[in-house]
Amino acid sequence: MLDDPTDALSAAPPAGARRNGPARGRLKFCYGPMDCGKSTLALQIDHNHARQGRRGLVLVRHDRSGAPQITSRIGIARRATEVATGTDLRDLVREQWARGQHVDYVIVDEAQFLSSVQVDQLAELADEAGIDVYCFGIATDFRSRLFPGAARLFEIADELQPVQVEVLCWCGLPGRFNARVRDDVILRDGDTVVVADTEHSVVESSASARSDAEMVTVRYQVLCRRHFRSGDLGPAAAQHGQLRLS
Ligand SMILES: [Zn+2]
Repeated sequence: MLDDPTDALSAAPPAGARRNGPARGRLKFCYGPMDCGKSTLALQIDHNHARQGRRGLVLVRHDRSGAPQITSRIGIARRATEVATGTDLRDLVREQWARGQHVDYVIVDEAQFLSSVQVDQLAELADEAGIDVYCFGIATDFRSRLFPGAARLFEIADELQPVQVEVLCWCGLPGRFNARVRDDVILRDGDTVVVADTEHSVVESSASARSDAEMVTVRYQVLCRRHFRSGDLGPAAAQHGQLRLS
């Protein structure tokens, strides 16, 4: 660790600062489809670190609960700091330092929604301040295109870890794609956006004039690549409850 952590992220670190020791922070991205247990894993990692006396910062972008916390489908939750579009993630760490708290690790849930700039800030925290950064998120959107945050993480993370916990397509193959579905038809385009999970979806539109009629009966279904491509939602498609966004 650097002697004075408040200097670690300054624009011009003191000459020789790096010689004080190797920065040991690592940037890790755990990714998988919706409902694969990423949030549960995030909470478990937080718990494991905290139990060893390490101090962490838990961040979330667009949590499914609508409140700043990480919630998991198995019923556990932890308060988290909501990251806004323009938040400089380094500032969140500096605020902790200003209060005399050190930061050993940072956990980010829904990391696919981070901007590429924010992911770069996480890399800086790992490299310059020796902070371990664990990002959790979905790799691809409903069009099977990488989310910006996920794309940047694939480019620069030290470690990429697929999370594949019991999320299967209706056919039994691993589910890898989050299909956006309306009236049992897969939507192939539309505003980029997004998703919190299969029960509560957040649609964030760049177009301000989206009519209410367009907001209803959208749901997400995890599919294997074959059935994502073919659009076959399986025999139970008609039985799925329709999510209404009002
Ligand atoms: Zn399938």
